[in-house]
Amino acid sequence: MIKENLERIRKELPEDVTLVAVSKTKPVEDILEAYQAGQRDFGENKVQEMVDKKEQLPGDIRWHMIGHLQTNKVKYIVPFVTLIHSVDSMKLMQTINKEAIKRNKVQDCLLEIHIAREPSKFGFDFNELLSLLHDNEWQKLDHIRICGVMGMATFTDDEDQVRQEFRFLHQCYDTLKSDFFSDKDYFRERSMGMSGDYRIAVEEGSTMVRIGTLIFGERNYL
Ligand SMILES: *Cc1c(COP(=O)(O)O)cnc(C)c1O
Repeated sequence: MIKENLERIRKELPEDVTLVAVSKTKPVEDILEAYQAGQRDFGENKVQEMVDKKEQLPGDIRWHMIGHLQTNKVKYIVPFVTLIHSVDSMKLMQTINKEAIKRNKVQDCLLEIHIAREPSKFGFDFNELLSLLHDNEWQKLDHIRICGVMGMATFTDDEDQVRQEFRFLHQCYDTLKSDFFSDKDYFRERSMGMSGDYRIAVEEGSTMVRIGTLIFGERNYL
């Protein structure tokens, strides 16, 4: 099942779009099945769960942190995590930088931007992000590498709204690229699109989709 699901999705995605298989709440057996089908990028949203799974699974898996990250937990994932998608504060950037120095590593990160209409939870307000970047403090953080942006669209059936939100994220990306990262080749990622909206996201220029349910089935939250 998992293998077939992966193949179906991969066939649909353009070559240059990275598929992150979101394995949160799923057992290591499921991850191994995906691994054996060639999948290497996996996303988790909880630090402890990611660490536990990492210890039981092959070392060439690329782990993506996609959930809200508390500063006091950064130290557990920096040693191995490939990309942190959910950077949403200066304090978090500073903490990641500090832990990366200790690990003699440059940590790749994405800036999470709040694009949904829902009053939700996490992500930078884009205007606040702009002023934060104009204040050059972040440039001193030379052990993090900002590789692009991440966003989550509103959970709705209204495809036009979802499309507009992804389009807005792409515009945010373009602005950041030209204002701050025009000479940085590594600033090129737009992490957007989940099981319900990845087709729209790809049409709007996603470079990375984060898909769970369509690969592993519905999640059971206890
Ligand atoms: C759970 C999750 C996903 C995947 O959601 P599905 O609808 O199962 O594909 C993607 N991104 C984030 C940030 C998530 O928390």
